Amino acid sequence: MATHRDVVCPFCGLGCDDLAIDEAPGGGLTVTSTDCPIARDAFGRTVSSSMAAEPPRVAGVAATPEEAVRAAVRALADSRAPLVAGLAADVNGIRAALALAERLGAVVDHVHSEGLYRNLSVMQRTGWITTTLAELRNRCDLLVVVGPDPAAFHPRLYERWVLPAPAFQPAVREVVFLGGEPMAETRTLLAGWPVTVVPGDAASLASALEDPAGAESEMGALAERVRGARYAVVAWAAAGFTGSHADLAVERIVHLVTAVNRHTRCAGLPLTGHDNLVGANQVCTWQFGVPLRVSLAGGEPLHDPHRFAWARFAETADVILWVSAFGTAVPAFPPGCGVIVLAPPGTAVAAEPAVWLPVGTPGIDHAAHIFRTDTVVALRAGRLIDRGLPTAASVLRSIAAALQPETAAC
Ligand code: SF4
Repeated sequence: MATHRDVVCPFCGLGCDDLAIDEAPGGGLTVTSTDCPIARDAFGRTVSSSMAAEPPRVAGVAATPEEAVRAAVRALADSRAPLVAGLAADVNGIRAALALAERLGAVVDHVHSEGLYRNLSVMQRTGWITTTLAELRNRCDLLVVVGPDPAAFHPRLYERWVLPAPAFQPAVREVVFLGGEPMAETRTLLAGWPVTVVPGDAASLASALEDPAGAESEMGALAERVRGARYAVVAWAAAGFTGSHADLAVERIVHLVTAVNRHTRCAGLPLTGHDNLVGANQVCTWQFGVPLRVSLAGGEPLHDPHRFAWARFAETADVILWVSAFGTAVPAFPPGCGVIVLAPPGTAVAAEPAVWLPVGTPGIDHAAHIFRTDTVVALRAGRLIDRGLPTAASVLRSIAAALQPETAAC
């Protein structure tokens, strides 16, 4: 039994880099240093999964990698409205996917971009003031968590970034849950800490900040504490917001941060980034000058966050190339379109795709760069085991290399 130490976890935007993982003689991985359910499940999927256990398939029939690549090329070469999406891959995999999409003239999007756009649409409309996880840990003395507890999406948020004593802050850190309840695990973790749960929302706190007369109310008391903070951080996980106008909840949070800055230092911290969502958006932006949800069909990138959301465009796409290198379940697609899936063995698929190409998981089967939720840090995750699986980037490059030059749409 070998033990890997200081392993970088690539599965959510926190990018924890302190995992200890046991490797069984057969190659199966077991996380031993944390109870994080996401990490335990994701690394644990390596048990009994390999290229040999689930080889490539074409129309449900086992095929060689070369045959599967040829089948993918045939489908893509005939496509008139291709979608290259999922984009759950490391930076190299995303770069290869976008290069292929450019040749095909495809629409590109990430599987989790719905949550991203609850934030990005506000940033595009109003701008915002945000900070980093390091600032949260080292400088924040008052953390206001708005809405559902982000620990549901980022299980080690408090353990890694809130419980450690601030390096540049003499005060004890206080945590307030505004308009949401902490999960039971969070309550246990923060037991003994100054934790307050306040009903209401970001807009009512912003109003209370400007109304010292209401100091007797619960919201007025919170406003008083916010005004007295040295460095307040307002955190939220947009993926947890429900409703068709969840971006308006984010907009109220962003306005709250602006309002607090009239009294003391304050910054927002949007928590996101599963399956390298932030990395996909970064690569798209630096390659094409616009964020995700972009069409490359017209010779130059066309960004439209409504039309080119993958779930919407899938209704009109004739071929979908879906990349899910982190093993997130592959969704159901409209009947009639050809689906090519790149994913690790054992990934759940809603329906048998036209072409199935197994690939390795970044940070498990190969070294990889992954962006953290705060967008300023790209972590390098190492390779842990060899299951004989190619990288998503290499498979995507094979497909691109096999396309005839005249297939290029732009
Ligand atoms: S909190 Fe996120 S990055 Fe940290 S171990 Fe869990 S899934 Fe991995």
